[in-house]
Amino acid sequence: MIPLTTYRDDAILVVGLGKSGASAAKALSAGGARVSVWDDSPAKRAEAEAEGFAVINIDTVDMRTMDDIIWSPGVPHTFPKPHKLAEKAEDAGLTLRCDVDLLATAQPDATYIGITGTNGKSTTTALTGHVLKSVGKNVDVGGNLGVPALDLEPLGADGIYVLELSSYQVELTPNLFCATAALINIAPDHLDRHYGIEGYVTAKADLFSRQKASTTAIVGLDDEYSRNVFAALHDKKSHTIIGISADSSANANVLVQDGLLFDGLDGVLKEAADLNGLAALPGQHNWQNTAACYAIARVHGMSPEDITSAFTTFPGLPHRQEVVGMLTGVTFVNDSKATNATASEKALSCYSCIYWIAGGQAKDGGIAALGTLFGRIRHAFLLGEAADDFAEILQGAGVAVSHHKSLEDAVEQAGHLALRDGSSSATVLLSPACSSFDMFENFEQRGDAFKNIVHATWPEIAASTPGLHA
Ligand code: ADP
Repeated sequence: MIPLTTYRDDAILVVGLGKSGASAAKALSAGGARVSVWDDSPAKRAEAEAEGFAVINIDTVDMRTMDDIIWSPGVPHTFPKPHKLAEKAEDAGLTLRCDVDLLATAQPDATYIGITGTNGKSTTTALTGHVLKSVGKNVDVGGNLGVPALDLEPLGADGIYVLELSSYQVELTPNLFCATAALINIAPDHLDRHYGIEGYVTAKADLFSRQKASTTAIVGLDDEYSRNVFAALHDKKSHTIIGISADSSANANVLVQDGLLFDGLDGVLKEAADLNGLAALPGQHNWQNTAACYAIARVHGMSPEDITSAFTTFPGLPHRQEVVGMLTGVTFVNDSKATNATASEKALSCYSCIYWIAGGQAKDGGIAALGTLFGRIRHAFLLGEAADDFAEILQGAGVAVSHHKSLEDAVEQAGHLALRDGSSSATVLLSPACSSFDMFENFEQRGDAFKNIVHATWPEIAASTPGLHA
């Protein structure tokens, strides 16, 4: 846990008691702060009270009695509608900050690498941590990914924190100055929280506006929103800017084409790595993640050879095109993390004979944009609130669909049909293009359920899948 000694005796309100808020409340208490808490869920408030935290009264709390307010990124503060406590905080002159900001103030001498983007943040962050650690650097990895910021190790001056940052976190980190900040890509997402795409792009780009002089901005060039951010940074001349692309962008300093990574950081593009065959990083989308990681690692002093060697030992992350088993030509893939159509598009592009399990709570735009990939889908097994809308679009394109009340039913049906297919490359793919909240607590629970169902239905899978890790 990060020691938070500078807040001793301060009155601090922690709002939102999910993973990061609970971690902040504990770390602040351990450092001697006078912590009070609030969560909009009565159950969470009761839990906190049972743990000895003082729960405020949201109607009567006088925010002028607080020295600070720590806001959990998952709690909407301004849009879609203002939160009462955020309004009171603003009236009292308090700035909303999250646990990552506390880390930044508690470990001011460490080096920070911030990674944001709509898709690929976790993969890029985990890969970057893995690559930097491979040459013995003093690194810890967290933020939006895995370990909350204040549960990381105190690293001190030679330490490097590699942080995955959501747009919500970027908004709440006024004191985080990243030596290297990377924006992988932008696609419309979380628009209700940012009052539209402009607000979302601004939140992402803010990561760069708070960098200090002589820092590096790494920006994806494969979508228009990110290209605009790149152009604006270029005009400002405030950073060393590195463009990355997996889609032949002419401005890229690190470029992946047909799986070959070219390094132009020294002025001339030179082939540095062959990414084809990296099992844990399949597809063009992962080339983008790998290019971002490559650029970061080069900025932090690693040689091309050391970086590319570390790529080959990256184990991948659960729930992202994770192979959970293979059986007589059928591969079962858990891509539960694909909570929007852009993410599912990436997985669908990687396979040619797909038994697709999709649905849940749909995001803006639905799956209409995936039309060019529908020819790869042998059958779609649809779940949740989005099932009817998805069915209409898929059937309109001639794809066979069925509706399922449970994931279990969908997986069993998909598996049986795929096993009867006779193709040597059939894939049962859970890539929902939806969030999970109508049926599961989160995408992890949905992905774990998928794995359990696969293993319970076909117990022989474990024995027939080389190198399978549970
Ligand atoms: P994030 O943390 O940003 O949600 P992840 O690395 O967890 O991203 O990947 C989530 C899903 O997004 C993956 O399962 C994959 O389908 C898709 N994805 C990963 N990288 C990219 C990328 N660079 N561009 C678009 N989609 C991606």
